[in-house]
Amino acid sequence: MSEFELIDWIRRRVVDRPPLLLGIGDDAAVLAPSDKPLLVTTDLVMEGTDFTFPQTTPQLAGRKSLAVNLSDIAAMAGIPTAAFVSVALPQARGESFAEAFFDGLLDLADEFGVVLAGGDTNAWDKPLVASITMLGYPAGKKAITRSGAKPGDKIFVTGELGGSILGHHLTFTPRIEEARQLVNLVDVHAMIDISDGLAADLHHLLGASNVGAVIQADRIPISAAAQQLVSGERENSKAPRLTVPESTASERLPSALGAPHVLHALSDGEDFELLFTVCAADAEKLQRHWPGPTKLTCLGEITSEIGCWLQGADGAKHPLPPLGWQHRFS
Ligand code: ADP
Ligand code: MG
Repeated sequence: MSEFELIDWIRRRVVDRPPLLLGIGDDAAVLAPSDKPLLVTTDLVMEGTDFTFPQTTPQLAGRKSLAVNLSDIAAMAGIPTAAFVSVALPQARGESFAEAFFDGLLDLADEFGVVLAGGDTNAWDKPLVASITMLGYPAGKKAITRSGAKPGDKIFVTGELGGSILGHHLTFTPRIEEARQLVNLVDVHAMIDISDGLAADLHHLLGASNVGAVIQADRIPISAAAQQLVSGERENSKAPRLTVPESTASERLPSALGAPHVLHALSDGEDFELLFTVCAADAEKLQRHWPGPTKLTCLGEITSEIGCWLQGADGAKHPLPPLGWQHRFS
């Protein structure tokens, strides 16, 4: 199968929808202008870092490539509209691999009403690399940034955290609908999606907002997968690795707080849940009126004093470092 046959196959698979005026097949796409601000996000995924074969299917790799972009649009409280996909396909894996990758990607795009408006297709003798750019618009009056957290705000998270390596990092549902519901209900001050880990991404939000925070250790919602990793680690020392080596992380957290499952929830990353802040009155409103079904948990509070603290049930506070995933260049 040639590049053009694959593009043709993709084109037949795509359902045109607004804001697309001209889609796949020309030198550039043409999109209808809108009176709302335009959200644009882009993400690069790589075989070996974001997924490995044959542990992952090409369908799930395609799904994840699109889903990480949807999560970024959700973090801005946006509605996604169109995507552009550039891929370097591994020649040796053949056309069924390429079609399966795009099948997984396009199924999720259809689910979220996103049109594939264009891209670029290359093949090489190296692993799969895909770069996706996604467009959207704010669901509410404006996009929600990381920088709006105010002292006294309550800090919330959707879903449960930790253990994503057991499958969630491939199969998660981007929180587009939850973000839309949130901005309809309350005034969200600041928001980020948890890709690097709760602790790391909380630090990102605090830094952008120039505030501090106190997190209650016993309120962190721990996923069943994180619990499973911990029992697996006890039985088998070759269990999946923490993104921060456990020894390093535990040295920096007192043992009462650094129970292994809490560490997983703080630092594993790829939860793709939403971390956000609202004023105290809106926090109460959310506690009473949040329709679900996705769980919402209040984790703690924003402080004017800079610094990030994890508070135990005994009231003692310990510094919470930005544990989590980082790409390293050197
Ligand atoms: P050009 O050589 O002019 O850049 P291409 O041959 O790369 O054009 O692409 C032809 C058309 O196919 C363009 O509309 C482009 O957006 C689309 N396209 C190419 N690869 C992909 C892809 N992986 N997904 C979606 N559209 C694609
Ligand atoms: Mg051209």
